[in-house]
Order: sequence, then structure tokens, then C-alpha cells
Amino acid sequence: MLFDTQSKNASHLLEKIETADAILVGAAAGMSAACGFNFFYQNDSYFQKYLSEFHEKYGFTGAFNGFYYRYPSSEARWAFLARMCYMEYECETGKPYYDLMALLAGKNYHIMTTNQDFQFTRVVPEEKLSAIQGDSRYFQCSRRCHDEIFYNKDMIYAMNDAIDENLCIPTELIPRCPQCGAELEPWVRGYTFLEGEKYRDEYRKINEFLQWNRDSKILFLELGVGRMTPMFIQEPFWNLTYQLPQAYYIAINPKDALLPKQLTGKGVAIKEDIAVVLRDAVALKKHQEG
Ligand SMILES: [Zn+2]
Repeated sequence: MLFDTQSKNASHLLEKIETADAILVGAAAGMSAACGFNFFYQNDSYFQKYLSEFHEKYGFTGAFNGFYYRYPSSEARWAFLARMCYMEYECETGKPYYDLMALLAGKNYHIMTTNQDFQFTRVVPEEKLSAIQGDSRYFQCSRRCHDEIFYNKDMIYAMNDAIDENLCIPTELIPRCPQCGAELEPWVRGYTFLEGEKYRDEYRKINEFLQWNRDSKILFLELGVGRMTPMFIQEPFWNLTYQLPQAYYIAINPKDALLPKQLTGKGVAIKEDIAVVLRDAVALKKHQEG
């Protein structure tokens, strides 16, 4: 039915997924961008809906501005952090996530992600998911005084409800460590990121999957990894594809998909919109299944 380059990519992807014994997916910021979530860097419709007051008060033009701003008080900083995380809890799951899961249905797979927006947790069981850069659904002690992280949904919603006209939360709602009394922090990669039991467990899941499947026909599927932090997904995927005899590598990214020349014949770089490739591959799969 489809014969252009775009659908050739989709059918290549589908064929490699269907014929693989194991699939390790590595997804990064481009996956969320493919869903139309551009609020980290842009004043998009989500940013306007949830964060426009912060734009007016502080001049933020994307959510990242809000993480690095020097706020006048902790009460003001927590108002932003609470609203930001509230938005992540509230926004719908992007269609590319559903399409990816339709392609992986019934397959032996594992997913690792540097995304902290926990979109994957809506579509993948936790034992098949490794969030290697943290997960905004959790807080940690800002002093890392002990190895516990705290599920934060109730705290986030209470803080968000209590944001006042000065864009501050009440002092008593600032989340504090039950052990040492320091403020908590979102459990995401940063200067104080807690690499404790849960962090190690995320890597344990990946390593076990690789141990089990390293000698089988394994597909490394890289989705939306940029050039800023290649060390977490892209370089390990390249090295493993190079080393493992039956491995194959597919990178999809409209700008940054790259295939090192050492991997010629063992992979492809698809420079296309992730949402479009996944959508077309799902359509093709449905067509083939009749
Ligand atoms: Zn503490």
C-alpha cells in the first residue's frame, strides 16, 4: 500500500521488530517531543495552560527556565516545582507511546529511558521499565541523608492547590525529610541525585535483560536521543551492537539519528519524525494482520 521512503522506514522497523528475539528500547527527550510535549524548551500550549502565571511573573519561556531560576524563597520555588509536576501527572499519554506498545505487543522487550516525565509508566509494567535519570513521581532527601524515595502525588496535588496569588505555597507544605528535616527534592538527575537502591535496581533490570538475551537476535531501538548526553543510551547501544554477533541497531530521530560507520550493515539511522514512523509501522502491522 505504501511505497515511498517514509513507509520503507516504517516497514524496515516493523520487520526488525517482528523478527527479533529480544528488543531493548532506549528512549529520550525526542520521544516526548514527538508527542507534542515541547514545554521544556518552548512556550507551547501545555506551558500556556499550566505555567502562564510563571511566564508573567518570572519571564520563563519554557519549563527548564523554572528549574534554574533563583527564587526569592523556597515557598516560591516549590510553587513552580509543584505546578510543573502537577502538569506531568495531568497531561494525557502521548500517542507514540501507545504506538510503540502496539509494536512491542507479545514481544520480549525492555525499555530504558532518560525521560523523567513518567509517560512510560502509564503503558509499561514497572519490571519492563528502567528510568535511569530519575522519575519526577518521587522525592528524595536533598541532603541524601538516607536511601529512601517518596511517592509524591498527594504532596504535589496539595501544594498545587495551595499556590497563592504571589505564586507561593504555605511554608508548612514544603516537603521535608522525615529523618533530618532538610527539604526534599525531585528525584531527578542533578547535583544531589540519589543513586541508591531504586537507581541500582533500574540498572539491574537492564543488565538482567542483556544477560538473558545477548546471544539471541537482539534489536537496539533508539528513540529521540539527542547529542547532549550520548553516554546513557546511544554509546552503550553502539558498543553492544558492535560486540554482539546477532545485534541490530535502529535509531529514529528527525535531526540526530546517526549510524557509526563501524556499524554499517548492522543498523540504520532513520531521520524522521518518531511519531510518524511509529504510526506508519502500526498501520502496516494491522494491514499485514488483516
Ligand atoms: Zn534527610
